[in-house]
Parts: sequence; structure tokens; C-alpha cells
Amino acid sequence: MPVLPDVEVFRRYIDVTALHKPIRGVEVFDADYVTDSSVSSLKRCLTGAAFDSTRRHGKHLGIALDSGHWLLLHFGMTGYPNYARIDRDPPRHSRLVVRFRNGFRLAYVNQRKLGRIRLAGDFNAFVAEWSLGPDALEIDRADFTELLLTGRGTIKARLMNQSQIAGLGNVYKDEILFQAGIHPAAQAKDVPAESVSDLWRTMRRVLRTAIDRRVQADQFPDSWLTPHREGEQCPRCRATLERDTISGRASRFCPACQPA
Ligand SMILES: [Zn+2]
Repeated sequence: MPVLPDVEVFRRYIDVTALHKPIRGVEVFDADYVTDSSVSSLKRCLTGAAFDSTRRHGKHLGIALDSGHWLLLHFGMTGYPNYARIDRDPPRHSRLVVRFRNGFRLAYVNQRKLGRIRLAGDFNAFVAEWSLGPDALEIDRADFTELLLTGRGTIKARLMNQSQIAGLGNVYKDEILFQAGIHPAAQAKDVPAESVSDLWRTMRRVLRTAIDRRVQADQFPDSWLTPHREGEQCPRCRATLERDTISGRASRFCPACQPA
């Protein structure tokens, strides 16, 4: 599922492929993805414009148009962008194809019916309107600590709640808690302040490492939890990894490194 590191990799991909190229036309293959505006206004807004810059907030990618609008992409469970020559057929499940005058095109590909394409006048207004919390790579240590040490809920649920911290998914949440030695079912407000501070550092390191390795899970360090299944040995202490449903979602953890 494309979460913060994946979407950051997509953002950089679009930066090096699709910016500053006049748009010749737009094809929408599935209107269900287009929300908050009509397909015709989406086409009208993009045609003749060019992508100017990109931004990311959590799992949301914004592409600024030189006309002042933003094209906002959410990739759901399986989405990704694909830039190639126009004479190459877009990948299966392409929902939107933006054709440039230079003979290339950018496709938004998404196999499943989750994910959204929308237009917005302002990126920050979109973030506010959708009640997204601060981005996991933007939030500073003081705000992170204050956020987790106030309010109720398991640390796992708090980290996953996009209105509190935007960008993490189930896999990175497991990884971050594993590396910080915190049990996923711990109440956030009961975690010692030094551990929350360490969790913030760990979160940044894990996300940046994943981005640097272009979210190729086979490139992740073997000392990480992610490459290992429940029932296998913990890469750090050799205890048997466990899996449990906590706050409604599966969590993997090491019962020895992450004592309850
Ligand atoms: Zn362990």
C-alpha cells in the first residue's frame, strides 16, 4: 500500500520526469476516481497547462499546475505513476493519462477502486479540509511528544490515525515500534517521554531509509522487522516473532524486544 515513503518516491519520480512540459491532452478512463470536480473541468484545467512543482503530505501527492491549480493524487492500495513515450500503451488499469507535447505521457495506474484524483485551488487548504495531521517527516520532536502523550488510545492506533500523524501505514508502524522497543498495544500516554522522543528519531530514520532504498523491501536491512514473518526468529534477539490484532489491525512484534 503506498504510504509516505512510496508516495515520496513517486513525487521524486514525477519531479524528474513530468515537470515543465506543456500538456496536450488528458484522457480519463475511469471517472469514478475523479472526485470534487467533473471530468470535463479536470480536462479543461490541465490541457494547455504544465506541471510546475510537487508536494507531498502524508500519503497525498500534490502536483502544482502553472495555472495555479493543484492536481491531487491519492494512490489507495495499489496505485503508482508511470511516465513513458506516448507510443507505448499505458499500463493496464491506467485511470488517467496526461499527454505532453513532447511525445511522452504520465499515467496514473491503480488496479483497485481505492484512490482519488481531484483538483484543488490550494494544497494547504486541502490538507486542512481533510483534517490531516502533520506529515510524519515534518512534525518536530516537541509536537510529536506532546501529541502522543496527550489523548487516549494505543500507540499503534495513534501512529496510524492520519488526522494525528499523516503518512504511516501498518508495515512502517510495526517497523518503527519494533526498532524503538515499544509494544504496539501500549497506551500512548503511558510510554515514557524519553521513549517517545526516541520513537520520533526512529520514525524519521526508518522513513528516510525506506525512501533512500526506493521502498524495495528486499533492500531493507536484515536487522529490520519488515523482512521477517511471525513465527520466524527476531533478527535482534532470536525470540519468536508474534502477530496479534491490536486496535483492529494486525501487528507484528517481538515479545522480548517489545515487552508489554
Ligand atoms: Zn527481539
